[in-house]
Amino acid sequence: MKRIIGLVVMVLLGSVTASAQTDRWQQRVKYKMDVSVDVSTHRFTGKQQLAYTNNSPDTLFRVFYHLYWNAFQPGSMMDQRSQELGKIGVSKDSKGNIKYDWDARVTDRISKLTPNEIGYQKVLSLRMNGRQLSWKTEGTILVVELDKPILPKSTVNFDMEFESQVPVQIRRSGRENSEGVDYSMSQWYPKMCEYDNEGWHPTPYIAREFYGVWGDYDVKITIDKKYVLAGTGYLQNPNQIGYGYEAPGTKVTRAAGKNLTWHFVAPNVHDFVWAADTDYKHITKKVDNFTAHFFYLENETTRSTWPQLAEMIPAAYAYIKKHFGAYPYEQYSFIQGGDGGMEYPMATLIMGNGKMNGLYNVAIHEWMHSWYQGMLATNESLYPWMDEGFTTFAEDLTIGNTIDSLKGNWHHEGSYNNYFRLVRSGFEEPISMHADHYHTNLAYGVSSYSKGAVFLEQLGYVIGAANRDAGLHRYYRDWRFKHPNARDFIRVMEKESGLQLDWYLQYMVNTTRHINYALDSIHEANGKTVVVIRNAGDFPMPIDLLVETKDGRKEMHYIPQSIMFGNKPNEDESVKRIVHDSWQWTQPSYRIVLDAPLSQIKSLEIDPSQRMADVDRSNNKAVSK
Ligand SMILES: [Zn+2]
Repeated sequence: MKRIIGLVVMVLLGSVTASAQTDRWQQRVKYKMDVSVDVSTHRFTGKQQLAYTNNSPDTLFRVFYHLYWNAFQPGSMMDQRSQELGKIGVSKDSKGNIKYDWDARVTDRISKLTPNEIGYQKVLSLRMNGRQLSWKTEGTILVVELDKPILPKSTVNFDMEFESQVPVQIRRSGRENSEGVDYSMSQWYPKMCEYDNEGWHPTPYIAREFYGVWGDYDVKITIDKKYVLAGTGYLQNPNQIGYGYEAPGTKVTRAAGKNLTWHFVAPNVHDFVWAADTDYKHITKKVDNFTAHFFYLENETTRSTWPQLAEMIPAAYAYIKKHFGAYPYEQYSFIQGGDGGMEYPMATLIMGNGKMNGLYNVAIHEWMHSWYQGMLATNESLYPWMDEGFTTFAEDLTIGNTIDSLKGNWHHEGSYNNYFRLVRSGFEEPISMHADHYHTNLAYGVSSYSKGAVFLEQLGYVIGAANRDAGLHRYYRDWRFKHPNARDFIRVMEKESGLQLDWYLQYMVNTTRHINYALDSIHEANGKTVVVIRNAGDFPMPIDLLVETKDGRKEMHYIPQSIMFGNKPNEDESVKRIVHDSWQWTQPSYRIVLDAPLSQIKSLEIDPSQRMADVDRSNNKAVSK
């Protein structure tokens, strides 16, 4: 196990240093699917036509598909992994009880599924350009050897017939979730794996992140008339469906018979989710240039929380659009379903029975994934921190600036505290780790969500928050629909700030080095105050040192880090800033002479903004007695 993980780290280190190119090629998919659901057996059959365009410079001799639902079978890799994590004690509660590392939603539940409760996806036939192909199912991955290769810059047509059984809900997908939603249909169809400039990504479904090919989806779902459907895409036949999709005042004419066929189209997305329930309440809210849809099961709580959520979305969007860029589709659906919150293109499945603030928080988090998972769509398995971390950062800002009681606070304190807890736990791993291969859920979770958010907030400390914010816009403009990697992101920030940041990426992503700067000594010489700052950690950083004198003056002493080759702009024009010579990281300490006797100094503080993730702040501040 350890050896395998070592290899994975080496592969990832290589990928982080790959060069940036904004004209990066993308494979392209065009799916046409027609599925028919038997709600009495929870099975469905499907026909899938896939036009696959190889825009790469490479000849492809085989292709891979995801068969995610095969994970919900006893003995699957997901089952094995969950049970192994259940043996690791990661913390203790106040009574001394050990908290085990497994996901409370999964635990050993997969091992107990009966044949009628498991999930599966069985490929019944597969042809390429009309010729029958042979394939092999390896757990959640379908390996297809091609009889003729796919040449660069060419399109082939795959025709597949498949049969699936909807699992009892364990994780994300499935039937009868804990809040009673009938069908949460994510990862529900055989899906072509992504091939990019880092190669194929046939990542077995163990637990976590996703990665897909952009393209156009045309999906027809035939199901019992009683069900209301929600999902990715635009409904093409609202007047044959009704259920709140029809334009107000339009007459709905449903076909005779037991079933209805729902026809959705979704342009330029990398996945397609849907959910169904016989009792969905459906409301809509016009927001800017798109319509937000809300699907929930009405009860005493949701009767007030979900309409209130709908009313909160326009203000949230005004903030999001200004800071992170515009939402590019005409529709987004907040859908009660799944087992927490999970993002998909143009839709999310979220738990819906909680209190208002929890509902708002999860809704904003999942919706922000439309930017970092939907549009920017870094390979989440390789760079989960660029998806979950950036999403967390944007979520915290959006919530913090739209809820009155939170305005004016620093919104990232929680992320820093989680990161510090992980450092203390001893379970920390470099965030270059593949999402599925972390030793613990604890390290994966904090690294991806919290350290990823710290990465961005601390970057604001290094290059200035205004540069970081402008860089986020530039990242959105230059890289959406192009699957950027970590190197691409830091290049954007280098261009925006004019500073060298390779070292920051290296230390933050590929190591578990820790920042710890300390006020080492303060003394008076020749009527001036001499301050020595020591690098007590092993991660170099530029230094902001705030000096306050007893007569009420404030001075910011700024020491750039030599390998930045430049200074961040003054972030606060109301405080005088003195820029010192750069600190060469090879030098263990740095000496500043203040133009005042020690008796006049009131206080000294390294990074009063606390954006630098200094693991020991007890040595950062000195106050005169
Ligand atoms: Zn997330």
